[in-house]
Amino acid sequence: MVTVRFAPSPTGFLHLGSARTAIVNWIYARSQGGKFLLRIEDTDQVRSKDEFLEEILEDMKWLGLDWDGEPIYQSHRFDAYREKAEKLLAEGKAYKEGEAIIFKVAKGRTIDIDDQIHGKITFNTDDIKDQVMLKSDGSPAYNFCCVVDDADLAITHIIRGDDHISNTPKQILFYEALGAELPKFAHMPLMMGADGAKLSKRHGAVSVEEYKKDGFLPETLANYLMCLGWSPGEGVEKVTLAEAVKLFKLEDMSDTQARFDIKKLTWLNGEHIKDMDTGKLLDLLKKQVTDSGIEITDDAKFREIVEMYQVRLKTSPDFLELTDCFFKDEFDVEEKGKRKYLDVEGNKENLKIFADELEGLPDFTTDAIEFVCRDIADNRQLKASQIIHPTRMAISGKTRGAGLFEMMEVLGKEKTVERMRKAALA
Ligand code: GLU
Repeated sequence: MVTVRFAPSPTGFLHLGSARTAIVNWIYARSQGGKFLLRIEDTDQVRSKDEFLEEILEDMKWLGLDWDGEPIYQSHRFDAYREKAEKLLAEGKAYKEGEAIIFKVAKGRTIDIDDQIHGKITFNTDDIKDQVMLKSDGSPAYNFCCVVDDADLAITHIIRGDDHISNTPKQILFYEALGAELPKFAHMPLMMGADGAKLSKRHGAVSVEEYKKDGFLPETLANYLMCLGWSPGEGVEKVTLAEAVKLFKLEDMSDTQARFDIKKLTWLNGEHIKDMDTGKLLDLLKKQVTDSGIEITDDAKFREIVEMYQVRLKTSPDFLELTDCFFKDEFDVEEKGKRKYLDVEGNKENLKIFADELEGLPDFTTDAIEFVCRDIADNRQLKASQIIHPTRMAISGKTRGAGLFEMMEVLGKEKTVERMRKAALA
């Protein structure tokens, strides 16, 4: 049975690159009806922290990943590593240096990795030093315990980042020495920043947590990360984990480096918000709005606002920014827009005329408001936009938003007229 693992070290938050490794392993396991195991590489007991582990597990669940069975902790397996190290020592394949146990690397041979993504990669053991298995404090070295675990867990495919390619020949030597069956290796090209250097803090946010805080949906991050180096099909950008499980093939993964592109991620998030169940989006936004200290007094109206803006949001924090005018009278006003549309000869006069007409309107509906607007434009030989832009500025303080007439209906006659008059007098 296909068995893969994700092996995070809980010495920091979940990095986007590690999240991508987890996602690809998960998709591969699920696509093969196989197992996806979680191994916690916590041999460094000083740097490993419970809070990092909790956050990594939280983030994985948030992304939609589940794992089979209980996580395996390397810190619980020191006896297993010692037993294997002593076995190799007894067989003459290793030697002691003080308390440390060191593996002898025979020189002068080549080791080929038949990489599932890169093809054949050849190493020479002349370039590989003898390898520490157990350090003098009794803790295992990464390459050794990784192999002991992967062999014991019968891992069939090791899918991880390119940064581990140089570890692989050393690990192959351990498989041979232990008489264990070799898994297949697939090394994914690393994720790069916009400047082509390995994605790091220098480029901005690199942890899943930060993107979560910035209002990105888990569906978007999963979608974006799985598609770095893999495509669900010509021209297809939006894909869910469930869809990917049906389409994914390891051999379709690209061997070229992908650049992390925040613009693309942001666009993709907008696409996922558009398709999101409105009720779900409503709950998410409601929490955000109330957390910001605004009380939602009219649920039906709140729903109308959400429906009106769903197609326009890129990330959820955009919502409050775009819709503050519906929740408070002291909303932000774009200075540039004010100069362009309100501080202009004639526009205030038009606003006043429009407000007067609206005041007497019995049904304050989108269609009726639009009719009045177009009628004034015709009579005064204006383009409708000459009334629309100043009005949007007056009622919302913004140059962009939802359809103006719809916004006016949702805001209600009283507030709309009051704001238009205020702007006309300012
Ligand atoms: N703990 C290692 C890492 O986070 C795992 C490497 C592996 O998958 O073998 O990079």
